[in-house]
Amino acid sequence: MSKYVTGLTYGGQEWTPKFVQEIDPMKCMGCGRCVKVCAQESLGIEMFEDEDDMQRMVAIISNKDACSGCQACGRVCVKRCHTFEPKLA
Ligand code: SF4
Ligand code: SF4
Repeated sequence: MSKYVTGLTYGGQEWTPKFVQEIDPMKCMGCGRCVKVCAQESLGIEMFEDEDDMQRMVAIISNKDACSGCQACGRVCVKRCHTFEPKLA
């Protein structure tokens, strides 16, 4: 049995979700692709003004609890800003 939280595919195959942990604001170019692709209605991530440069938008984790661990946001990010981890069961 996995020590991590697992899910099941429609066909009953087990998979291990990996939840978003961080988005690197130094690498983020503010394209917004990761926010658009997130399927969670109570978005786990959103665009926000950079604290050091109000002209610049960056992606932030706004509601970690909403993340389903699909990793879609990381897959569409050309800058590889996101890091993910499975959750201990
Ligand atoms: S996809 Fe990557 S570069 Fe674009 S907003 Fe998201 S984190 Fe930033
Ligand atoms: S891993 Fe999936 S659910 Fe979590 S923030 Fe990224 S796109 Fe949204």
